[in-house]
Amino acid sequence: MKKTTSTLFLSFAATTLAFAQLEPAKQTPQSSEIWEPVPPIVTPGVFSANTAGTTAPSDAVVLFDGKNADAWVANKGYNPTNSTAPLQWPVRDGVMYSSKTSSAMTKQQFGDMQLHLEFQTPSKVEGNGQGRGNSGVFLQGRYEVQVLDNYENPTYVNGMVGSIYKQAIPLANPSRKPGEWQSYDIIYTQPKFSKSGVMLEPAYVTVLLNGVLVQNHVAIKGTTEYIGYPKQVAHDKGPLILQDHGNPVGFRNIWVREL
Ligand code: MG
Repeated sequence: MKKTTSTLFLSFAATTLAFAQLEPAKQTPQSSEIWEPVPPIVTPGVFSANTAGTTAPSDAVVLFDGKNADAWVANKGYNPTNSTAPLQWPVRDGVMYSSKTSSAMTKQQFGDMQLHLEFQTPSKVEGNGQGRGNSGVFLQGRYEVQVLDNYENPTYVNGMVGSIYKQAIPLANPSRKPGEWQSYDIIYTQPKFSKSGVMLEPAYVTVLLNGVLVQNHVAIKGTTEYIGYPKQVAHDKGPLILQDHGNPVGFRNIWVREL
């Protein structure tokens, strides 16, 4: 049917009326203000570069504050097992050092989180490539954010500091010199699996190294394997594991905010 001028006018008028009904009577500055819910108050940690570092904010789970390594147990093989073997990493002057006895695993399990930690590769440079200041942060005991002394020390770029090991090359290399304190701030969302164990959604990770963005909301394909492809194995919450790779790497100010 061909619309007449009057029916066109009527439909236009109806549309205008419909939109007009969605509009608030009168917009004021206050009508677009939202007051609730009020975000919780969090007292931030104290930041002091190369002295005390960044201490935990008030709502964090403190995993190491320089006093003792009671939140940790020994772990071998970078697997999130239920080890209860005591950790034998030495704690000296507020720092815990990786040792060849084992890797270190948290007693507590985590899902989505914000993680902060500080690390120090040996000031006395020994070895090169992957053999220099190597450790690692295994998110949920499975996905390694590499720790390495990459200051004037080239290696394969998908295995350098700031990489998701053998999966994601860092966006930059903001390494400090050997022996200087460096920081990781990591925002992590755990993967989601179906009941039959199929990955429905990968883990996502954002990483800042020394305040510089090195991984920007990167999907983790699966476990970070030394040899071969990532494996997708269903899991729920998991621990943090700090790797022993034969180099004494120091750690301090390790804390998590569960999300
Ligand atoms: Mg490593």
